[in-house]
Amino acid sequence: MTDQPMTSGRSSVAVLTERYEGAVMNTFGPPKRVLVRGAGCHVWDADGRRYLDLMAGIAVNSLGHAHPAVVAAMTAQASTLGQVSNLFASEPQIVLAERLLVLAGADGEGRVFFCNSGTEANEAAIKITRRTGRTRIVAAQGGFHGRTLGALALTAKAAYRAPFEPLPGDVVWVPYGDAAALSAAVDETTAAIVLEPIQGEAGVIVPPDGYLSAARRVADRDGALLWFDEVQTGVGRTGRWFGYQAEQVQPDIITLAKGLAGGFPIGACIGLGSAGSLLGPGQHGNTFGGNPVACATSLAVLDVIQQDDLLTHVTSIGAELAARLRLVDGVIAVRGRGLLLAADIAPGTSPLVAAAALEGGVIVNDPTPDCLRLAPPLVLSSAHIDEAIPVLSSAIGAHSRAQDAAGPAQRHPLEVS
Ligand code: PLP
Repeated sequence: MTDQPMTSGRSSVAVLTERYEGAVMNTFGPPKRVLVRGAGCHVWDADGRRYLDLMAGIAVNSLGHAHPAVVAAMTAQASTLGQVSNLFASEPQIVLAERLLVLAGADGEGRVFFCNSGTEANEAAIKITRRTGRTRIVAAQGGFHGRTLGALALTAKAAYRAPFEPLPGDVVWVPYGDAAALSAAVDETTAAIVLEPIQGEAGVIVPPDGYLSAARRVADRDGALLWFDEVQTGVGRTGRWFGYQAEQVQPDIITLAKGLAGGFPIGACIGLGSAGSLLGPGQHGNTFGGNPVACATSLAVLDVIQQDDLLTHVTSIGAELAARLRLVDGVIAVRGRGLLLAADIAPGTSPLVAAAALEGGVIVNDPTPDCLRLAPPLVLSSAHIDEAIPVLSSAIGAHSRAQDAAGPAQRHPLEVS
């Protein structure tokens, strides 16, 4: 794995981490480990330690690591036709676009734009909204849509925005989950409403039932587009193809990335109905989007989800994981849907608990100081849950006991059981 000799007495992880810090831009802080291999729901670090991956590359490795169908599709396509530019088309790109339109219930009228990440999918969506002739976008507080300047402009969080201002303007924010506030903020100057069906980075915030349908009614009232950012919630993660399918609602725009090709970079912006035709030749583009390897890999992921009935599995294993987490001493509440879950724990403890869990061999993350997020591969099994729970119990227990003296923990206002 390393092309330099080991420094005697130091672990490979320590040596590689130091080299990382000397060569890679410090945008992410120090890496937690240097990983060398993955198989199924496990990964191994450069010192040979094994971890149960309950984050799946932040909701990306839908079928786990090195799934044979994914590896086969990727390598077969790479050894046949790897990249063609967008001056040409390829069959995997066409088939994937058709497949996504069917999954989104497009009814023959939609179109897909391919790119390589979630933030790029959202950039494409922003451009679509501009083609309505209006500029205002209504977004939600706590929302996250990516780090390019356009996507960042949709994010209210001051810490993300401040170093890069001025950002593209005409964005207003409303409290997430509050249909009345959304209705009051939208008018006939609004180009689009953008919402995550469940807010992932904010700590897995599930909106009240009916919120997404209310957004549809408000958008229709004022002629605005309804755009669901499904980058984190899409492709089976919540037990449905798209998170918004928890309600009877159809958006105009869906943005996807993360789990779409199970770990190979891809993004997609789906325009339904007339929203699929608002961008014309020369108005948007990229070099790698829709490349045959990404699209063939994505088709393999969709096939496995379908053939193995993983949507049903995600619903049942997600319920099992949530139920087991609720029994852990120190867990205040569990929320989420399918395999996008958060466990509320004592305020301020989640970074310490996530670090302790990692030390114990389980990967989770801490999107806020008072909750842990779990977004494991969709192929998670009961045996994996058996492996995780003792490690998480001990990590949470140790820190919640330390916190007891500091007073009672707060429940999250939007908790969904
Ligand atoms: N949208 C949502 C809802 C996300 O959760 C993320 C990433 O976490 C993004 C967009 C950005 O995706 P990417 O990191 O692939 O650019």
